[in-house]
Amino acid sequence: MKSFYITTTIPYVNSDPHIGHALEFVQADVVARYLRLGGFDVFYNTGTDEHGLNIYTAAKERGKDTKSYADEKSARFAELLKMLNIQYDNFIRTTDEHHKMAAQEFWNRCLATGDIYKKEYKIKYCMGCEMEKTESELVNGRCPLHPNKEIHTIEEENFFFRFSKYQKPLLDLYEQHPDLVLPESRMNEIKKFVQRGLDDFSISRLAKKMPWGIPVPGEQDHVMYVWFDALVNYISAVGWPNDMEKFNKWWPVVQVAGKDNLRQQSAIWQAMLMSAQLPPSRQIIIHGFLTNQGVKMSKTLGNVVDPFDIISRYGTDAVRYYLIRQVTPFEDSDFSEESFKFAYNASLANGLGNLVSRILKMSSDYFGSEPVGFSQEEWECWGEYRERLESFQFDRAANVIWSVIADLDAHIQNEQPFRVAKDNMDKAKEILRYLVGGLNQVALMLRPIMPVTAETILEHIAANKMPEQPLFMRKD
Ligand SMILES: [Zn+2]
Repeated sequence: MKSFYITTTIPYVNSDPHIGHALEFVQADVVARYLRLGGFDVFYNTGTDEHGLNIYTAAKERGKDTKSYADEKSARFAELLKMLNIQYDNFIRTTDEHHKMAAQEFWNRCLATGDIYKKEYKIKYCMGCEMEKTESELVNGRCPLHPNKEIHTIEEENFFFRFSKYQKPLLDLYEQHPDLVLPESRMNEIKKFVQRGLDDFSISRLAKKMPWGIPVPGEQDHVMYVWFDALVNYISAVGWPNDMEKFNKWWPVVQVAGKDNLRQQSAIWQAMLMSAQLPPSRQIIIHGFLTNQGVKMSKTLGNVVDPFDIISRYGTDAVRYYLIRQVTPFEDSDFSEESFKFAYNASLANGLGNLVSRILKMSSDYFGSEPVGFSQEEWECWGEYRERLESFQFDRAANVIWSVIADLDAHIQNEQPFRVAKDNMDKAKEILRYLVGGLNQVALMLRPIMPVTAETILEHIAANKMPEQPLFMRKD
């Protein structure tokens, strides 16, 4: 059996899950489910990133113990995964003992390669990004992503990672794997970033200032910088370093990540892997951000779409549908309640749901308990559907399904089986065989995207029964 390892980024637990996390979880889940249906052995990793100054400060501010604070936040992400019906195989927490051990072993490997050294250090640091910022990245002395947060200047003795050494090796890697990063525009962006030259960066913090990190092996005054430890999750999740059989079964990985993660995933992490003498990732799929009517969602603006709320009101599969079909996989897209409700009514309540009721109503009326005997043969559309999904063009794969839905609607319109049935039942049955066959194709293609809906349709086709209630109730 062919094996396939896919992972999301692991969200940082300093805030609640937002709809952007839902997008990433669902995209990876659609790939995972699609490949499982195709006979692949799939390992889906997700989890939470729990170290660093932000968590330490947030817990302190709330008068909470840091670990219990992280426990609470991490549980919220696990809850969202459940609500979204994500079929994951592993939920890693960077506070897990195995992960801590792996991060320390990884550190030792990079140290052995000569890529870690100690240096006096003075940096500008954005608390929002948990990352240092060079002067050229700041706008009016502020981080453009977090203009309302102070930039801190820190001076201390730190360990550094010899990132500069990896300019040529990274460019060679990109040359050898021109589709390492998808879409191509992001591949070009990271290439340009590396071509401009790389600076070594700090990978530790002083434990007396910020103890909430994994101890640097043999250096009790230092803990690892949160990014360094977190990235190691992609290999610790599959058993590295103590279960190499497991690791070799799954590695390399396909990583799904947001555009704000491009540099960490496709340059920093790849350089770290080379330093530890491990093979590079298989592919890095970069998605855009979700906005609300074109405006970046933020608590201060009060325009955040809460995934828990929208799922509880519209249902899991409806939200999965929107994230897959109405969102452009690689670019920024809109997720406002208005556009969500519009798509829900048009494509789910009126489109898919209505079609299922109409076809199965006629089919159960005409055939009763007699077998419908429709053709199970794959329709031509499967070629395009597969091609789209395998290149992560989720919206276009879903469009293939909805064009079959439109064709079936048009077929009912043109053939008018309900009229034909009045004086030619044989012909009406013939039309219904085609329609039920088409509906069966729709349900099979829907399985990775809307798993519960797909199974419900398949069960009702098998029983030749119309659903007792519409699959999607119209919302006003
Ligand atoms: Zn920032």
